[in-house]
Amino acid sequence: ADVRELLTSRIHDVPDYPKPGVLFKDITPLLADAKAFAVLTDVLADLAEQHGATKIVGLEARGFILGAPAAVRAGVGFVPVRKSGKLPGATLSQTYDLEYGSAQIEVHSAGFTEGDRVLVIDDVLATGGTAEASVQLIRRTGAEVAGVAILLELGFLEGRKRLERALAGAPLDVL
Ligand code: 5GP
Repeated sequence: ADVRELLTSRIHDVPDYPKPGVLFKDITPLLADAKAFAVLTDVLADLAEQHGATKIVGLEARGFILGAPAAVRAGVGFVPVRKSGKLPGATLSQTYDLEYGSAQIEVHSAGFTEGDRVLVIDDVLATGGTAEASVQLIRRTGAEVAGVAILLELGFLEGRKRLERALAGAPLDVL
């Protein structure tokens, strides 16, 4: 409870960003606070260990910032899931629907080795579309999804339900 209080107090609400009517959760104050960032990193690394993860995947772009130090702390490798066209090697890609249009994410096929168990990390769960697509993408590489860890959930968007369906029993931790 203390940890959650520390973390949530460092996330700021920004009204009307990136467009009118949207309340954006800004995590940059948390990142700028050495103590809060270290606590968050420890919590995420503990989850990786609890779930027996052998890799951490971070979702572009804030999932990179949270996932990379957690991977180092947990002693596992880090694999980025990126928006389309950013990765130089052979990739698998996954398309998913947005409110208007669609988006595509990619991962290096060579990012995982036989038997890898992957913890997926991102900052915010909104509709759940990005995290759901990531789970599907990672499974298509042959790796196992050990769980998804998210800093903050925008509960009214029902992203959790959608993501839990995709996870089919694998754990979802919202801090
Ligand atoms: P979803 O696919 O669940 O609708 O959206 C989640 C993705 O959009 C995440 O990668 C997250 O970083 C980003 N996102 C959506 N809303 C917010 C927000 O209010 N704050 C931050 N920091 N990221 C958001």
